[in-house]
Amino acid sequence: MIFTNFREIDKLGRIVISKDIRRHLGIQAGDVLQINTEGDTIVIKKAEKKCIFCNSGDNLREFEGKTICAGCLERLRTLS
Ligand SMILES: [Zn+2]
Repeated sequence: MIFTNFREIDKLGRIVISKDIRRHLGIQAGDVLQINTEGDTIVIKKAEKKCIFCNSGDNLREFEGKTICAGCLERLRTLS
């Protein structure tokens, strides 16, 4: 499915992502978006959660607003 919207950027550089696109991609308030450029194109996609230490996407847990995988959590437990 292709969505095309025309949105004006405001004075602070913000744009609004339409409700139909947010709903289609499962984007909710508080989600983190990754913004990249490819030539003259801006690519915005929902950031995938990854472990802050090893970038793994498996067995993730949240702690103090950070994401950590079970493997790194276990390694931290054995430090002390
Ligand atoms: Zn990890």
